[in-house]
Parts: sequence; structure tokens; C-alpha cells
Amino acid sequence: MARFFLLFCAAVFLLNFFALDVHSEVPQYEKLPDQDIRPLAYDIKLLPWMDTKDWLLEGETKIIFSSENGASVLSFHFHHWPPLYFEIVFDDLDHNVTIQSVTFNDTTDQVKVQLGEELQAGGTYEMYVKYEFIMTEEPSGQGIFKREYQEFGETRENTPGWLWATYATTQLMSTYLVAIVIGKFSVLYEPSIVPVFAFALPSRIEEASVAVQSSAFILEYFGNTWLNFSYSFPEMSVVPIESHPFGAMENWGLVQFNPSLFYYLEGRDLIAQEKSVIRVVSHELAHQWFGNLVTMDWWSQLWLNEGAASFYQYFGADAYDPEGKWMDRRAVLGVQPGYYTDAFTTALPISQEVYDGSFEFAQGSIIYRKGCAIHTLLLNILGNAYFEGTTQYFKDYGYENTRNADFLNALQQAADEESLNLPTELSYIMEGYLYRSGVPLVRVTRSYEDLQESVYFRQERFLLDGDDDDGSRYFIPFRYITSGRSEESEIS
Ligand SMILES: [Zn+2]
Repeated sequence: MARFFLLFCAAVFLLNFFALDVHSEVPQYEKLPDQDIRPLAYDIKLLPWMDTKDWLLEGETKIIFSSENGASVLSFHFHHWPPLYFEIVFDDLDHNVTIQSVTFNDTTDQVKVQLGEELQAGGTYEMYVKYEFIMTEEPSGQGIFKREYQEFGETRENTPGWLWATYATTQLMSTYLVAIVIGKFSVLYEPSIVPVFAFALPSRIEEASVAVQSSAFILEYFGNTWLNFSYSFPEMSVVPIESHPFGAMENWGLVQFNPSLFYYLEGRDLIAQEKSVIRVVSHELAHQWFGNLVTMDWWSQLWLNEGAASFYQYFGADAYDPEGKWMDRRAVLGVQPGYYTDAFTTALPISQEVYDGSFEFAQGSIIYRKGCAIHTLLLNILGNAYFEGTTQYFKDYGYENTRNADFLNALQQAADEESLNLPTELSYIMEGYLYRSGVPLVRVTRSYEDLQESVYFRQERFLLDGDDDDGSRYFIPFRYITSGRSEESEIS
């Protein structure tokens, strides 16, 4: 039976960035100025008029924040400017803060609020931002939503017939991971340790079975095996969105897919389609840990999210679909295309130690495929300590932001605890891969001159658009065996 569902992974949520992204399609990359305020919680109320007011969305966000030293200027992001209506109100039990001016920069999507006074040092404040938008989605099934809405909550006094649907407070999380989806969906339910709901068009709900079954299996598998850290929320929902700007998006507890990567019907679609659904499901679920539980500190180290998800997606898919040769797919699809992009002088480093807007994103193939290759390299160097270190990383940094050094330190500690004999510090080994572009070409030459049996290793940058070795050198671990010994030896 077709029903309307309001899916909202958070009504009140805490976050790390002081950014309000309303109806946002892409994350904001323009960093807010340093400011003396710390957001503590966001309380969002949305009232979507899907029937009587031409898809008007009324919204109100209460931001609870503290000021350590007494700020007089506040800045936050506001996407989708201008709204029909916009208002900022400070509401404090003891004192109403006066506002001198509010200015908006439509290049950076930043709102700057100049207060008429300094906030009290150490004080906690509430700021209400009220707004109205016309939603851009096509109207359909008008009126049904309101009926379903009445199943929840208490009556909204000034809106007869409306009831609030109230959702639980989330864990600490970043704003870009919050999502709300409203639509005319049917639902499939897959009972599991973490129950999974697949929402889909009523006419296509049977095509959601691979998505919901693989989601339930892989979510449990990740938590119990390689990542060894339980998923953070009591349930998971997956939903296809028409014209989704990305292939899929890992919003916490509400993963969204482009329909082309969500639906599969046996007998109609190619097997390749089923594999794509499984792989993308696995990728987005890996993000529930890498990206959602632990979030990169800034976009210049996006590979911390994407490289890991691109690596673990093959483990999840392999467990769910053992016939799929997923580890072979990892080599061909997950790693080698990254080598190709990295073989041109236009390739950019996968990450940078830059924490403002003055950085350039590496190519997607670098962030995803080279990221997958770097995790493969780390696993080959560290063995089981790689997984031990990753679990410790979640324990140490869960619900926090991290940088490259935090991840490498967690792995280094695990290596030390297992008394691994690394040739040098992991951070030094990985420096060339994380902060320089390019992939090394290694030539190995055996020499029998003067009966001195020698092997020479020589590395240079592998380039497809010229011969100019730019001098980049990489720390390359090797394993080898000789005819006289069956055990592997390591050099680097
Ligand atoms: Zn991803």
C-alpha cells in the first residue's frame, strides 16, 4: 500500500561545524571565520505545505551555543538565499541580546550577525533562525502527507489539523549528514540486529529487495567483523531519490541513492546492475563509520572518508556476495583507475595540510581509487594491526573530527602493540603517498657480474604525459623470497 513517509534522521542534532545548510545539495567549502562561539545543539522544525501553499516550506532552527570569551559577531552558513522570509531572534532566560545588523554574502553563503553588545564570557545562548522557502520538487499526492503526519506528536496550536512528528536526539554529528526525505513511498523491511527499511516508489518496491537485504547483511557484518564497532543508531533506512546529484549519499541513518544505483530486478536487469547496487550499498554503509562516526576535520582530507569507504566496500560486498570475486574487482575497479589518473602531471595530491578554503580538491579518481590503494598498502604493511588500529581509531575519535595524523597514529600504536618491525614511522612511510602526487615505477635489475649476485631497485615517477621525472620518491616496502629460503623477507 502506498503511503507517505516522513523520514528524518534527526530533529535535534548536535554538530561540529557552526553551519546551517537548509535545502543544501552540496557541502559548503568556504570556511567560516574563526569565532568565539561553539555550537552545542541544533533543534530543527520544518513545516512542509505540500497541499495548500504551493510547496511552501516553513522552518525554524534553534541553535544553542556557548561563547567562551564574549563574542559580538556571529557567522553561519545559509544556503539557498534568498528565502521568502528570514529572521533571527535571540532568546535567553535572563537577557535578550540586541542585534545591530545582519548581512549576507551570496558568494560564500555566509550570514554575519553583528550584535549590539558583547555576549557574556562563558554564557550559553539560543538563537532562532526562521525562514520560508518554496520547495522545488514536483507536487504529487497532495494532502495525504498531512493525514499521515497526524499519527504522531501533539497538536500544533496555531496550525489546526497539524501534528508534530518528533524524532530522537542524535549523536554528535556534522550538519552535512542530516537529511529529510518526504515522498510517496512503499516500504520493505528487513529484520536484523539493525533493522533496515527500504523506501521506494510503490510501483518499484519489489526492485528494492537487493538494496534492503544487502544493507541489513553488510551493516551487521561491518559492525561485527572488520570494523568491530557497533553501528551508532537503532535503525537504518535506504531510499532512492530521482535526480540525486551524486550516485549516492551516506546521510547518517538515511542513505540516499540515485535510482540507477538502487533498483534491481532479476530477469530484467543485467547482473552488472546487481553488482553495482551491492557495491554502492557497501560503500555508503562503510561511511556510517568512516565519515559519519569519525568525520574528517576539513575537506582537504576528504580521502579519510572516501578512501576508506572505497576500500571497505569490497569487504562488505565480498561477504554478501562471495561469488562476485570482489577482491579481484578491487584491483581492477578500485585501484588501477587511480594509477592512471596519477600518471599525469596534472594529478593532484590526495590530501593537504590546509584547513581553510585555499586548497584544490584532487581528482575524484585520486580521492577514491588512490585512497583505496593507500588502504590496501596499509593493510599489506600492517596485517592484522591495520584492523586493530582502525577499531581503536573509532574508540578514540568516535563523534569527533580527525586529521591524517590521528588515523596514522592509531595504526602506529596498533603496530607497536603487536611489536611489528616497521622500517620507520608509519607517518614517514606514508608521507609521499598522502602529500605528493604520482605513482612510482620500480625497475628491478639482477646482476651476476663478478659472481656478486645482486639485485638493484630503482624508482622513478611513472608518467604518461612526458618523461620528466619530477624527483618524487616514495617509501616502498617490498617482500621477497629467495631460492634458498621459503620465508618472505622485507626490505624497503
Ligand atoms: Zn563515498
